[in-house]
Amino acid sequence: MAMVDYFSGAGIATYHIYHDGKIEKHIPQEILKGYEQKYKYVYHDKDNNEHEICIADWHTTKKKRNGVTVSAPNRSDTNIIEYKENVNEGDTQKRVKYANGDIAEYGKHPTRGLIWRLYRAFDEEIEIVRMPDEINYVKGSVTIKYRFSNTKRRYTGPSPLAGFIGALAEIGFELTTTGSCFYEASCFPSAEHVNGKSVDTSYKLDVNQDQKIINAMAKFHFNERFIGIKPYFYKLSNAINKDALHNTHLHSGDFDFDCITEIEN
Ligand SMILES: [Zn+2]
Ligand SMILES: [Zn+2]
Repeated sequence: MAMVDYFSGAGIATYHIYHDGKIEKHIPQEILKGYEQKYKYVYHDKDNNEHEICIADWHTTKKKRNGVTVSAPNRSDTNIIEYKENVNEGDTQKRVKYANGDIAEYGKHPTRGLIWRLYRAFDEEIEIVRMPDEINYVKGSVTIKYRFSNTKRRYTGPSPLAGFIGALAEIGFELTTTGSCFYEASCFPSAEHVNGKSVDTSYKLDVNQDQKIINAMAKFHFNERFIGIKPYFYKLSNAINKDALHNTHLHSGDFDFDCITEIEN
């Protein structure tokens, strides 16, 4: 499939992810018609081969602060513009939207029971991409594979998706992810997945494999890795033994958005 219109020079905004951890965002002067709201992701392996991994749709929403636990919203609060009670997105059962962009979500937290979390909005627009339903890319020595578990946190930031793809290539075997964030950058039950800056993955419960995952996430700019506190997790390094919550999943978070070089061509 031709991705550049050679006549007009129009192209697709593309993340180039290199095996050594470098990530570049290339923005063409003119965007190919129909691709105005899309990013392409290309992986460059150690032999300098390019691999087209996926194209993802993006939209904008207000940047959110980390979630905090709050009491139930007052339904007569005139700042509420939407109060949904039958939400069924991952662990989120209710969602409230405020006029200023804040979002509150309610549901079952894995260790704290039924709680409300509030994700306050900054006065700043950010981009969010929809993660492909799965990636199942195998070519030559390159394997990039993930699938989702039951979660519906199927959105993330365009740049963290690039980091995740790079880490998956480094790992070379399939990961199961419980996702990153929702459409408007909130992330119940987590507090710190806002704006797609974090992604959760299941453990392999094999020291070599789990260590490889942790190291790959670190290499691809997820600055914090949280693991559990059972004896098994003390065999792993390059991650913090955070709490019992992380006995069930690896949290790779605090993605370094500044690591990406933007190139206009
Ligand atoms: Zn390239
Ligand atoms: Zn997490």
